[in-house]
Amino acid sequence: MIGVLRKKPVDKLTEVLGKEKVKTSPVERKLYSYDATPIPIERAVPSAVVFPETHQDVSLLVRVCYEENIPIFPRGAGSGLTGGAVPTLEKGIVVSFERMNRFEVNVDNATAEVQPGVITAQFQEHVEKLGLFYPPDPSSYKYSTLGGNIAENAGGPRCLKYGVTREYVLGLTAVIKEGKTLKTGNPVIKDVAGYDLTKLMVGSEGTLGLITSATLKLIPKPKARATALALFEDLEKVGQAVTKIFTAGIFPSALEFMDAEAIRAVEDYKPVGLPKVEALLLIEVDGSEQGVAEDLRQIKELLSSMGIQVRTAGSKEEEENLWSARKNLGPALGNLRSGKINEDVVIPRIHLSEAIPGYRAVAQKYGLLMVIFGHIGDGNLHVNLLYDKANREEEERAERAVDEIFELTLRYGGSITGEHGVGLTKRKFLPWQFGEVGYELLRGIKLLFDPKNLFNPGKVVQVGPG
Ligand SMILES: Cc1cc2nc3c(=O)[nH]c(=O)nc-3n(C[C@H](O)[C@H](O)[C@H](O)COP(=O)(O)OP(=O)(O)OC[C@H]3O[C@@H](n4cnc5c(N)ncnc54)[C@H](O)[C@@H]3O)c2cc1C
Repeated sequence: MIGVLRKKPVDKLTEVLGKEKVKTSPVERKLYSYDATPIPIERAVPSAVVFPETHQDVSLLVRVCYEENIPIFPRGAGSGLTGGAVPTLEKGIVVSFERMNRFEVNVDNATAEVQPGVITAQFQEHVEKLGLFYPPDPSSYKYSTLGGNIAENAGGPRCLKYGVTREYVLGLTAVIKEGKTLKTGNPVIKDVAGYDLTKLMVGSEGTLGLITSATLKLIPKPKARATALALFEDLEKVGQAVTKIFTAGIFPSALEFMDAEAIRAVEDYKPVGLPKVEALLLIEVDGSEQGVAEDLRQIKELLSSMGIQVRTAGSKEEEENLWSARKNLGPALGNLRSGKINEDVVIPRIHLSEAIPGYRAVAQKYGLLMVIFGHIGDGNLHVNLLYDKANREEEERAERAVDEIFELTLRYGGSITGEHGVGLTKRKFLPWQFGEVGYELLRGIKLLFDPKNLFNPGKVVQVGPG
């Protein structure tokens, strides 16, 4: 009807939640249209950024979005590397959980109730002061959120021994289609009632609903911890050394690998005095004082017998320096080339000695610089292809090489992603891993939780346009 102005869909959100929680200025909308994904991806400036403060706010906003067909792009700290938090439709809104940042620890039950916007490191520091431990330690822990970690099923070096985020989520509350509340699990370790919806929601990357709280499992804090550095002149020996450590009955709390290029990159970025070798392993053991000393002694003995030099960190400062070198690797690679494709493939440990040279051969075939580092103890490698962003031809070669890296990974019985998730960037490869039947089930699950395809549309599984 001429002369009657129809309200914009986001105005309804402002009406329901109030102006303070719905921001529509161009600056805010633009600021929230990015995450840390290092490669070019499709993105759109959202129509609004919404800052819920309670579960009720989230339920209300999802109800409005379901009525008005507004796509919802959930966001923690935006540190994701696969485009998960990036809005791709202008009509959509970003839902930032930064104001939902409270938590409560139950020491006697060794559990915590957390909201999604809690910063991982702040939570970890707090529980450690109480003698407890929350192990999942993505390298982004200083700024990533627990909500983002849960939605991505994040992992880190310590997940080798302690398991990934999924192992620590006992239950959660989420808002799904039409603003309905889904409550899963309980603050108990054993719970086998029905299908495991908690585990399904963990790692769902914001595509099934919005997580508004979670019950996390905590464990006793290890009494002692120590770090050793193993230096390799021969890349082939790395896989053998890893196998030797495990078959000797030692279970390190972290086992990290850096190749020669990775060592060079980190030394150029923030030097910590790493020697120039073909590869190194950073080995962390934890447990009782006595157990740690014995593990270190055994590791030294085992590796020395293979002709591998082993050094132990002599002080806390030295130990922190070594780990900061590992954690700085991501940004350090930015100094080598302007463009980077960082894949986080996983392969069974037994195939490491063949797979690493296999990845290198792919880089050689396409004439690209490759840097490999990562959580070698659980077979999760960061295979980085570096290129010059201004050189489109080189970038295309890197994209073609990625296809071969995933083919090789799946041939060894591995996974296309061990921690960064699928998001937008690995969507094409998910059917390769799941096959027709598995992929069809994924699509069915998505539509059961979100029949209008409004939660993070276009991410992980493709169920329609968007
Ligand atoms: C330097 C660097 C190092 C990294 N190292 C690691 C690493 O070692 N291990 C690792 O696993 N990852 C790593 N990452 C990737 C990233 O930090 C993790 O995926 C992290 O879990 C994302 O948390 P976030 O709060 O930034 O979430 P975001 O990036 O904001 O979001 C991640 C995903 O979660 C969804 N989401 C966020 N909150 C919610 C919610 N409440 N409900 C539903 N969905 C939600 C988003 O839509 C998106 O799909 C690294 C990133 C960087 C930049």
